[in-house]
Amino acid sequence: MIDIASKIQQCHKQIAELSAQYQRSANSVQLLAVSKGQSIDKIKQAVAYGQRTFAENYIQEALDKMQELAEFDLQWHFIGRVQSNKAKLIAEHFAWLHSLMSEKLAVRLNAFRTDGMEPLNVCLQVNISNEANKQGLQLAEVEALAANIKALPKLQLRGLMGMAAADIDFDEQCRQFNLLTECFAMLQKKGYKLDTLSMGMSHDMDAAIASGSTMLRIGRAIFGEREQVRG
Ligand SMILES: *Cc1c(COP(=O)(O)O)cnc(C)c1O
Repeated sequence: MIDIASKIQQCHKQIAELSAQYQRSANSVQLLAVSKGQSIDKIKQAVAYGQRTFAENYIQEALDKMQELAEFDLQWHFIGRVQSNKAKLIAEHFAWLHSLMSEKLAVRLNAFRTDGMEPLNVCLQVNISNEANKQGLQLAEVEALAANIKALPKLQLRGLMGMAAADIDFDEQCRQFNLLTECFAMLQKKGYKLDTLSMGMSHDMDAAIASGSTMLRIGRAIFGEREQVRG
């Protein structure tokens, strides 16, 4: 049986060491636990250790887990592909969406976000690996969507999300992540108040931290291999 607490502890230790190695300030990198395909039991172990932020890719799976874990004060992030008929559920149930890619969806989320809820925190997903099968805006499209979101009071643009290609070495991971980091810096320079660079997964957290990530999305390094894979 895998010991979730020691895995999370190990992740924090790695984050601290890598942050020091790359001259990042302590606590500048957050750990988001990707719980898709993982059991309630494992998630409860993470909660018992103190983890409060969790990310999911599939809406029904996420809603089921929220219900089963309702007794805990958890923050849920959606990181998967959003079908536009799911906009209402995302707007009503999540604190964050990392995979926003269209103005149409942004407008729908804004319309469905309930009064009285905090604005939905959003990141724009950018295709930095340039693979045809990967989701995401082209770099050249990012600024226009960021500008459109300004007019939507129930969305708070926090930053950018990207994934490096799977089978590449450290230098190439850094090159791809740095495309996102540069785009982020460009937007900040233009006055956007952004604080979140969502990049880095279990296999490329070193390169992500080296390249300026502020939020790692870590699944298997915490929970082990996924039990159910959907979609
Ligand atoms: C599944 C997933 C992750 C986590 O991947 P691991 O390899 O399990 O760390 C991170 N980000 C996104 C967008 C994912 O879909």
